[in-house]
Amino acid sequence: MEYRTLGRTGLTVSKLGYGGSPLGDEFGAADPLEGERAVHCALDLGINYFDVAPYYGRTLAETRLGAALAGRRDKAILATKCGRYDVNGFDFSAARIRRSVDESLARLRTDYLDVFLAHDIEFVHESQIVDEAIPAMRAIQREGKARFIGITGLQLNMLRRVAEAVPVDIVLSYCRYNLLMTDLDDVLTPFAKQQGVGLINASPLHMGILSSSGPPPWHPAAAEVKEAGRRIVEFCEHHGVRASDLALQFAFAHPYVSTTLAGMPTVEQVRQNVAAASNPMNETMLAVSLALSANYKNRSWPSGLLENQDA
Ligand code: NAD
Repeated sequence: MEYRTLGRTGLTVSKLGYGGSPLGDEFGAADPLEGERAVHCALDLGINYFDVAPYYGRTLAETRLGAALAGRRDKAILATKCGRYDVNGFDFSAARIRRSVDESLARLRTDYLDVFLAHDIEFVHESQIVDEAIPAMRAIQREGKARFIGITGLQLNMLRRVAEAVPVDIVLSYCRYNLLMTDLDDVLTPFAKQQGVGLINASPLHMGILSSSGPPPWHPAAAEVKEAGRRIVEFCEHHGVRASDLALQFAFAHPYVSTTLAGMPTVEQVRQNVAAASNPMNETMLAVSLALSANYKNRSWPSGLLENQDA
């Protein structure tokens, strides 16, 4: 496993990170014992970054990850979030964030977080993130409950504006750098690189579209984007290549992102994705896959308040 430095935090993170949302059954019912084995396998194979949130499975994913990491907490760089608690349940008030961190610490069976992130910030007014949420998270950091703090979301311009307005250690963006999307580099990468902000890329499989698992029923992408992804998966399978391998390798090749987070609820997926991290990318398959997605590239979807949309 290759390790990279996460911006100015100095944290050394595996280039493949463990995405915890499937542990909360967000991609269909996951076998809890298999999920625990998947977490152990990830640790055994050198993955050291673990991402979760109270929102995933409405606390279920944190509870399961906390149980799986019991006794091996010190081997993990553990990240969780605050501010999002349901599909339409957001609360970025300082009081809720203070309660939230303590609840997460209890579920995760630890007394500190390595990374604490404001979750999907585009759902509230920017001023609340800048003036209330981030200062509350900095206070939590000073108390020693979190080593580093940051923000996550889909809307790139808002992530950048907030990081310009108030210093953050880490920005996590999802579904913005993979075989179907690369606009992360138009908005966030140059800024993060210049400022030394740690950059995390989530959902390299475009939340399942670029894998044999396929998208979950709630996937918000347009039908033609899903169709473009399906064509890539079929093309890869026809040539004996796993689309998820190609998609991950494309993401790993990013020159500034430190860790790419993939959701992996099974041992088999962990093993496959870790193997993809050490195998070379098939450049011919990449060229054809990018050609197959060219007409549907960089098509995102609305998320959050109207005032926070990228376009
Ligand atoms: P993803 O692109 O990683 O896709 C996950 C899906 O792909 C799951 O169905 C998984 O079972 C499947 N999969 C993974 N490896 C596979 C393989 N080898 N073969 C077949 N199928 C495979 O999407 P994601 O899980 O949404 O993103 C990764 C993680 O990033 C999340 O779990 C979460 O921790 C984080 N994330 C954070 C935010 C945020 O903070 N706003 C948003 C999205 C994701």
